Amino acid sequence: MNKVILLKKRPVGRPTLNDFEFTTAAIPVPMTGDVLLKTLYVSVDPYLRGRMNDSKSYVLPFEIGKPILSGIIAQVIDSRHAEFKKGDFVSGNLEWKEYQVSNGKGLTTVDAKVSPLSSCLGVLGMTGLTAYLGLTEIGIPKAGETIVVSGAAGAVGSVVGQVGKIMGCKVVGITGTDEKAELLKSKFKFDHAINYKTSHDLKEAIRNACPDGVDIYFDNVGGEISDAVLANINKHARLPVCGAISLYNDTKIHLGPRLQPILLTKSATMRGFIVSDFSAKFPAATKQLAIWLKEGKLTYAETIVYGFDNIPQAFIDLFDGKNAGKMIVKI
Ligand code: NDP
Repeated sequence: MNKVILLKKRPVGRPTLNDFEFTTAAIPVPMTGDVLLKTLYVSVDPYLRGRMNDSKSYVLPFEIGKPILSGIIAQVIDSRHAEFKKGDFVSGNLEWKEYQVSNGKGLTTVDAKVSPLSSCLGVLGMTGLTAYLGLTEIGIPKAGETIVVSGAAGAVGSVVGQVGKIMGCKVVGITGTDEKAELLKSKFKFDHAINYKTSHDLKEAIRNACPDGVDIYFDNVGGEISDAVLANINKHARLPVCGAISLYNDTKIHLGPRLQPILLTKSATMRGFIVSDFSAKFPAATKQLAIWLKEGKLTYAETIVYGFDNIPQAFIDLFDGKNAGKMIVKI
């Protein structure tokens, strides 16, 4: 039997388990040029929420009644493909199925001896690249500057802060629990951490944590948290806009402060990006992250949820901040 998870209906607001359909199918048979894959680790990511809407974006929306796709590490259990052999581990954007065939397009072989397989979905995968390239290409950190990162204890945020520290910056993280704030300081060596849920005046808390102002704001969440950071930016600040998770489930558009006067008077640069904008730099960036990992300058956290059936709940839990570091489902 082959378990499969489909998009049943488009979520309105916060996704629920009712938006997903749990079904079964036969285990497919690989044809010439195919591999049969067994899913081992599934990445759940906030951006999948956007693909569940029927709206035009940088990726096509998921189709109702069709399997959801995300970053997956799988093992080749049968191969009729010249480049992959039985036993190989591969990563790719694959369907939420226990078993699936692939013609090999978009699959990358991963070496379990180099680093744990799951790290290819996080620090050495899409989220690590997002952090490193978003910060270095748009944030352009200089030693001594102050970086604020929101969603700081998550997969992207925790790497942003550490890369900022490696580059000699002061790093302040914003997160949603005291435990995660502690983790930011103890494990990831952030200089300060602010719990946005218990802070009465976030603008003031940021001002206190950043007496020299904010030179780089790496934005993972958008909304009111970002409004509070923007009130503290310095002249020539850079603002990589990576994500806006606080707004992904909104059904109406909220008005915040108008950004133009702030950006204008601070000669600031705010730039959105999709990690694939920098795809030409992926090999060099992955190499750099791997070197720092090996040298012990970089570390990572994972929240591992067990069981294929728990993939949708793990995804939903991202919106409740139940993860520290990369949220991954181990099958
Ligand atoms: P995370 O590991 O950071 O998980 C999501 C976290 O967001 C939660 O743990 C939670 O932490 C926080 N969060 C959830 N709801 C809210 C809210 N309403 N307000 C503030 N924080 C909230 O996910 P990723 O690291 O994978 O992604 C982080 C951001 O980066 C997302 O917005 C994502 O869409 C974006 N992204 C963008 C990419 C790009 O190419 N531009 C690529 C990858 C990710 P807490 O407990 O702190 O609230």
